[in-house]
Amino acid sequence: KLTYDNVSKSFGNIEVLKSVSLDIEDGEMIALLGPSGCGKTTMLRLTAGFERPNFGAIYKGSSVLSDARCHLAPEKRNMGIVFQSYALWPNMTVAENVAYPLKIRKIPEEQMEAILFDALDMVSLLDFADKEPATLSGGQRQRVALARCLVMQPDAVLLDEPLSNLDAHLREVMQNSFVEFHERSGATMVYVTHDQSEAMAMADRIAVMFDGELAQVDKPQNLYSQPKTERVARFIGQSS
Ligand code: ATP
Repeated sequence: KLTYDNVSKSFGNIEVLKSVSLDIEDGEMIALLGPSGCGKTTMLRLTAGFERPNFGAIYKGSSVLSDARCHLAPEKRNMGIVFQSYALWPNMTVAENVAYPLKIRKIPEEQMEAILFDALDMVSLLDFADKEPATLSGGQRQRVALARCLVMQPDAVLLDEPLSNLDAHLREVMQNSFVEFHERSGATMVYVTHDQSEAMAMADRIAVMFDGELAQVDKPQNLYSQPKTERVARFIGQSS
């Protein structure tokens, strides 16, 4: 479980996160949803360890990721990260791209194959193993990036607007493949988006954020039927 305990973060004198407290259960797919600038990406960056909170603490289970005294380095957090710009190596095949993190860690060849094909299967790209990224669609490239993060068997997968560069049709296809992937893998997924229909379609729970604060954390249907504030109701009710 990931726990955020009164986490605050400022850049200069702008307080971007204001005493945020949240629990994310193991295996949960949670969406951080809110308008541009509300602090969603900052939440992910704090989780990944790229930033450190000014106040409060973040835990994974009973171990401290960040608090006033400790700050665990990103590479020790075992988190997989997929951003909107999926940087793949153009001169490597899909399989080579996905296997690269394993190669760096000098995982033995025979083990590597099994992990690699598992990850490619998970994102339905087995048939594309020998292709080069330039020949793939945006959605397929996004899935390669996801597979590349999966081979490290992360405790949590952090996704920052992974579909925002894709056209409407592909976004819908990818929403389904993320949900399918989540069901198959049981991975904890934290998903940043400003698109409420995307969050509604995919997430087990949605954390609605405005101006650095959590306005409501709830199941999608409860956000519709029991919005806590008018602003939540308006944001959830708007069409994308
Ligand atoms: P978007 O959807 O537009 O990415 P967001 O909800 O993810 O928005 P953040 O990226 O977390 O929001 O940014 C929240 C606020 O913090 C913004 O006003 C942004 O300008 C500011 N901010 C983020 N990172 C930094 C930084 N490194 N230095 C200064 N200000 C920052």
